[in-house]
Amino acid sequence: MSAKYWVYTDYDGTVTLDDNQVKILDAFAPPGWREKEYAILEAGGKSLQYLPVIYADFACRDQGRIIQFIREEVRPDPCFPEFARYCRHVGLPLEILSDGMHFYIEDYLRRFGLEDLVYYSNVVRVDEEGFHFTHPHSNPECNKCGTCKKQKVVAKKAEGYKVIFIGDGLSDQCAAGEADLLFAKKKLAAYCRENGIPYIPYETFCQVLEYVRSEVKPDAAQ
Ligand SMILES: [Mg+2]
Ligand SMILES: [Zn+2]
Repeated sequence: MSAKYWVYTDYDGTVTLDDNQVKILDAFAPPGWREKEYAILEAGGKSLQYLPVIYADFACRDQGRIIQFIREEVRPDPCFPEFARYCRHVGLPLEILSDGMHFYIEDYLRRFGLEDLVYYSNVVRVDEEGFHFTHPHSNPECNKCGTCKKQKVVAKKAEGYKVIFIGDGLSDQCAAGEADLLFAKKKLAAYCRENGIPYIPYETFCQVLEYVRSEVKPDAAQ
């Protein structure tokens, strides 16, 4: 396959094997945050609606302590840094599309020497009053995703790129149907099966790297 490619990856559960938000909510939010999130999803909302609700009574207001907890508890994908270096090496553009929060993504990128990687996410300020969210990449037409991945994928396709998307969950669903080549696991794979969306199953970036290395030939002109 030779073409102009663009790679977008989800962050939580994808660049890191564990979901950072689930880990910190289980540790610091009152029990019942899942039910609150579920009720909002059932009512047709998504992260734009549930984020402020599930973080409303978060017990930790110290961002440094949250980061420390994540460093200890969240497992990074074993092959993502190598995948990112491979993409840079062959001129395959790679960006992170996350419906998570900027501060733990930045910490990860610094720890793994990947600071030059562009990411799009929700932005949160934590102070003694709690979590204050802003959503620089929401989409008024969607009005549900904190970071609307679909609009990013659609925009890249309009520029003539074939979009490769890697994800694992709910926040990837609306983008999944738009991707030209989709890697899916867990809830996203189940969603794709239910909706007849073709995907390549994977467990870690080790398999994504292997596939991209042998099957995807980016145009030299990129
Ligand atoms: Mg995810
Ligand atoms: Zn959306």
